[in-house]
Amino acid sequence: MRLGTHIRVTGGYDDALAYAQKLACTGVQFFGGNPKTYRVGAIDVPALRRFASARAAAGIDPAAIHTSYLINLASEDRKTVVNSLRLLKNDLKIAAAGDIAYVNTHLGSYGKRDRKDGFASVVASLEDALDDIDPNVYLVMENSAGAGQLCGGTMEELGEFVRAIGHPNLRVCLDTAHSWAAGYEINSRDGVERFFDLVEREMGLDRVVMFHFNDTQIELGGHRDRHWHIGEGNIGIAGFRAIVSHPGVQGKLAILETPGEEEDDARNIATMRTVLEGVAA
Ligand SMILES: [Zn+2]
Ligand SMILES: [Zn+2]
Repeated sequence: MRLGTHIRVTGGYDDALAYAQKLACTGVQFFGGNPKTYRVGAIDVPALRRFASARAAAGIDPAAIHTSYLINLASEDRKTVVNSLRLLKNDLKIAAAGDIAYVNTHLGSYGKRDRKDGFASVVASLEDALDDIDPNVYLVMENSAGAGQLCGGTMEELGEFVRAIGHPNLRVCLDTAHSWAAGYEINSRDGVERFFDLVEREMGLDRVVMFHFNDTQIELGGHRDRHWHIGEGNIGIAGFRAIVSHPGVQGKLAILETPGEEEDDARNIATMRTVLEGVAA
């Protein structure tokens, strides 16, 4: 697998790249802009081009953008959907300009809305975004922890989106902490096998192009989104070992979104690398 962590690019792409190199990342994820505003800034194409060449030279590929946390394509509020779609399309443009293969997004929450209407709204927005997508960029739906009316908490629902939209550039990211919180028992070989069988049946494992590897202390099916250090939560080393041993994940991108600062990132990457090497050996 390609392995990396979510990095900050607010200090500039040079610093971000240096950080990723220090951790010996072979893939990377970052925010395209400020994740807490609907405002869209100008796209600095030359800077993105330089970042792309430097990443390629450093062997850090593929890269992923994580969209803003404000994105809600399922909202009953029209303005929220319009603003969300603008953010998503802007990140797709950044990705096209900067050789960034994946734009990973949360879908949002149905709120008080009827699920059928919310589902249709998400489909319409994703279709709109995919209409003029660069052929080398993939729009990646991330599974949610399934809290409340959150969209995309089950493999069945993600599969429904995949089938309803049927676009080759629509892909899926599975976050391990969200999967566990949604009730998928991925802490053992049997559990992981069952989970990936379900993924295969609902959308095909080929649709899954990336993973977020996060452990979690939330109970199974707890529907809460709390990330924890690799091997120090309920998924545990056994769970991650089972996941990376599966043929369906080979060669794909794994991004850590674990908490803490540099020493935590270094430790989590090192732990994950040890797991990967143990499986490859
Ligand atoms: Zn996410
Ligand atoms: Zn995630």
